[in-house]
Amino acid sequence: MFKGKKKYTVRTSGDPVLTQEAAPILTITPETVELAKQMVETMYLFDGIGLAAPQIGLSQQLVVIDVPAPEDKDVVLSPGEELLLHQMPLALVNPRIVSTAGKMVSREEGCLSVPGIYAEVVRPERVVVHFTSLANQEIEIECDHLLARCLQHEIDHLHGVVFTDRLSPAEAARIDGELTKLRADGKRVNYIRVKKK
Ligand code: ZN
Repeated sequence: MFKGKKKYTVRTSGDPVLTQEAAPILTITPETVELAKQMVETMYLFDGIGLAAPQIGLSQQLVVIDVPAPEDKDVVLSPGEELLLHQMPLALVNPRIVSTAGKMVSREEGCLSVPGIYAEVVRPERVVVHFTSLANQEIEIECDHLLARCLQHEIDHLHGVVFTDRLSPAEAARIDGELTKLRADGKRVNYIRVKKK
């Protein structure tokens, strides 16, 4: 069925790996770099802007992102956006939120592990994130806008949290039917796409 093609799978809601605490990466090896490449390829194939290792079934603290710059050219970019936006796609090893700032903002989120379901999630607008780059550099920097949102969403995955765990009761009730159906289906099939090699 997948002859001559490469098969990519993303774990969907209901898969236990998505509710586990991921293990820190103690040493960055060529395998880590290879895994990050594979994750970027998967993220692009599924049209995502972020992917965490648990989403492909690996309970490790590795995240890849490809966040676009804000469309409004007049917004003031945070130091994190200034540094990181032109390095996309970017891999973050052992990323963590050091602190949050700004007001709480609501924004619609989706997730490759929750295909077809979107809901409003309230999160702090800015975060200071700490991570190790694949080149073994320790980076701690403040991020704003979509980058801050994406990092919070992806780092949640490393702690077994999916955006659907963070909904208001009204939003949770609104998507409950769809989510229950996805979880029931997810036990049989994960989310698969194939691409010609
Ligand atoms: Zn996600």
